[in-house]
Amino acid sequence: MVTHEQKIHLHKNDLPEGLSFTGAIAVDTETLGLKPSRDRLCLVQLSAGDGEVHIVQMDGENYDAPNLKAVLGDRALVKIFHYARFDLAVIAQYLNVHAAPLWCTKIASKLTRTYTDRHGLKDLCRELLGVDLSKAQQSSDWGAAELSDAQLNYAASDVLHLHALKEKLETMLDREGRRPMAEACFDFVLVRSAMDLAGWDDMDIFAH
Ligand code: MN
Repeated sequence: MVTHEQKIHLHKNDLPEGLSFTGAIAVDTETLGLKPSRDRLCLVQLSAGDGEVHIVQMDGENYDAPNLKAVLGDRALVKIFHYARFDLAVIAQYLNVHAAPLWCTKIASKLTRTYTDRHGLKDLCRELLGVDLSKAQQSSDWGAAELSDAQLNYAASDVLHLHALKEKLETMLDREGRRPMAEACFDFVLVRSAMDLAGWDDMDIFAH
């Protein structure tokens, strides 16, 4: 269960006019599956890190979403993801926008928490924040016209803690002198996700 006091705003097909964000915004997506070319984008969740979550539900036909695209494409706004590689590919595929610059809590975890191979969002929230995240709705039907409260709460919980995780992981990156390496990796995610969409999704081009 999420103990955080949260407020969920559900929007259809786009963010409303007049919302503005500064600094860094937490972003996550929910799709029908793990293949961007096959599995459509259903939800985009955003949070400024203040306990409020905006969920944009896409109907699958209208991906115009000018307000959402303006936020995701804002070069002055850092987008915080957990596993940015997937979200960037999906956002590029359906919204035709590059969600950069970005910060990825999964990459930062892999570069700092080398004492474990558990880098899931649930693992990070438990260890770094003492927050127990439910993953019960992870594989539910995100394409449903009416989402359940359990689905909305789950979708919201994926962005509620990313600011706090970023702060903890930044301290760990600095402690180990790995912030420059992390930043170079974050920049590369844009290319990595484009390569996923272009057909190099299962190949490590750095491998021998
Ligand atoms: Mn999610």
